[in-house]
Amino acid sequence: MNLRLGSVHANTLKVRHTASLLLTGLLILGIGIAGHHYRPSLSGTAGAFLQAAQPVVQGFAENPAIQAVTETASEVQDIATSVVAPTPEAVTRVVDLGEGRTFARLLLDAAISSDDALAASAALNDVFDHRKLKAGQEVTLSITRLGEQQTLTAVTFEPEPTKEVSITRQANGTYTAQIRNTPIERQRVASRGEIKGSLYAAGERAGVPRGIMAALVRAYSHEVDFQRDIHAGDKFEVLYDQPTARDGSPIGQGVIIYAALIINDAPKPLYRVTFGDGVVDYFDEKGQSVKRSLLRTPVEGARMTSGFGMRMHPLLGYSKMHKGVDFGAPSGTPIFAAGSGIVEMAKFNGSYGRFVRLRHNSKTQTAYAHMSRFAKGIYPGARVNQGDVIGFVGTSGRSTGPHLHYEVIVGGNQMNPLSVSMPVGRVLEGKTLSQFKQGQNKIKQEFRDLLGKKDGAGTQQSKATPPAAASIKVAAK
Ligand SMILES: [Zn+2]
Repeated sequence: MNLRLGSVHANTLKVRHTASLLLTGLLILGIGIAGHHYRPSLSGTAGAFLQAAQPVVQGFAENPAIQAVTETASEVQDIATSVVAPTPEAVTRVVDLGEGRTFARLLLDAAISSDDALAASAALNDVFDHRKLKAGQEVTLSITRLGEQQTLTAVTFEPEPTKEVSITRQANGTYTAQIRNTPIERQRVASRGEIKGSLYAAGERAGVPRGIMAALVRAYSHEVDFQRDIHAGDKFEVLYDQPTARDGSPIGQGVIIYAALIINDAPKPLYRVTFGDGVVDYFDEKGQSVKRSLLRTPVEGARMTSGFGMRMHPLLGYSKMHKGVDFGAPSGTPIFAAGSGIVEMAKFNGSYGRFVRLRHNSKTQTAYAHMSRFAKGIYPGARVNQGDVIGFVGTSGRSTGPHLHYEVIVGGNQMNPLSVSMPVGRVLEGKTLSQFKQGQNKIKQEFRDLLGKKDGAGTQQSKATPPAAASIKVAAK
């Protein structure tokens, strides 16, 4: 390490020397051209210079070449300040880790003394493995400058949107580091969009996170065939809670409170309902659970490529009973549990390839074949909820290309999935039904208020922190 540090210093000196020569060039030629002749990774106190420089220079701060030039200029300023009585100056710099640069190197490159750089790096390693730093990581340095001397007072960076690492210099000159979770905020968002191409594209135009659109597709996948039923001019509405980072960017999976697909001008709304015992389900406006049957299409955005019944087998070349339905979809497309239940089998199963079978109740099972891989946590005995991702489309086993082979088994016999109906959801009746009806009106009102009562085509979106009314709450059962 010592040897390396030595060479860093030597290089630093060399760069500074070159930079000094270039500064002369810079003064004559102007800032535009001078920077492009060399690429020192060992730039120095660029930020310090920027504090003193004209605003026009600031835009070049990202350019390493310019950094070297500015470094030289800062030395000029250093000399100027040391001639005048030195006063401590606090400087904040945001530097980019770049590619293949270690944390200690980043500090050295910022002209932090090797003692400080090593001490701060050692402190960091107590709480955060520096090897987990990614190229392009932004790091904020707080530096106190006194004449030519620079003291590193603090370092902060966010390795993840919800984590902040800080290293602070103590009074005795040592460094301590800590890592803390930054608060996740929640936003309630109302969006409306018109479908022109795909529903996903409409969601994207309206600024709805993809995870919300995927949840919407899952919630409707019982009764809407997204390939056939949705046409240009249809609309969607969605009210959802989205966890966000402090900068407002979505983190993780949000929750749909209310959604509506408006197909041929006929709205199909659905509402999230929380029962007193914590069970959550979606219901249509009449109070029917959307989970009233197995998913018709347990794979995202797929089309049926082969139906149930006798067919000429594409590989075997003779007529054979096709005991399931096939959905063509690109490899890696998520496959959903068609209903809630327990994983009975998740293994390579001969011509079925990677194969998952779920048991939903004493009579009913579903099976999924030819997967490229299983989802995490899918093993015999694991519990799944309807719509959970259980695996990904592939072409393992006896298969001509990526597709999902899907079977519904009732009483041990494969049935046509399109003709089987199996009630699995809760029922709203009596008291819970009237609570639900009241809740519907509140939610719809909230949606309209958030959206600013605008109407018609196009998309509007507004954000607010969630009010007290979350999803509709009803009694236990
Ligand atoms: Zn098949």
